[in-house]
Amino acid sequence: MYSDNCLLCQTPGGTVLWQNEHLRVIDVCDALYPGFTRVIWTAHVVEMTDLTAAEQTELLRVVLLVEQVQRTELKPAKVNLAAFGNVVPHLHWHVIPRWQDDPHFPQAVWAALPQADAHAQAAQEVRRVRVQQHVSAYHQALVLRLDSPWLPS
Ligand SMILES: [Zn+2]
Repeated sequence: MYSDNCLLCQTPGGTVLWQNEHLRVIDVCDALYPGFTRVIWTAHVVEMTDLTAAEQTELLRVVLLVEQVQRTELKPAKVNLAAFGNVVPHLHWHVIPRWQDDPHFPQAVWAALPQADAHAQAAQEVRRVRVQQHVSAYHQALVLRLDSPWLPS
């Protein structure tokens, strides 16, 4: 299944970290949110219930594995999992590490950017740079984990 006018059928949607025949895991390369990762189903399907039970399990296993590796490697205050597809109706999950001093906390990263004073902005930048320094290790750990057996037998 493929759609001629779908962004996620036409492009990887970010830097591909890992892929198999069903899905890909990409680095979103979001300037404000280092470590922001998406899991994108390869075929052009819209909803989770378009997948077979085995495919649903595979996709959710990978989403949860990304969450687990983010927790281990990036140590966020919270991980946000989201699947919308309102703008791009091609099945994908967002896995977003969040910190209490990130620019949108506690709102969703898609909310309007709140006003922050200079002190808060400086703190956000220190934290962002600190997280950015761990992103390579996070990606390496993620690929290693995805290369290991993770599907239930
Ligand atoms: Zn598509």
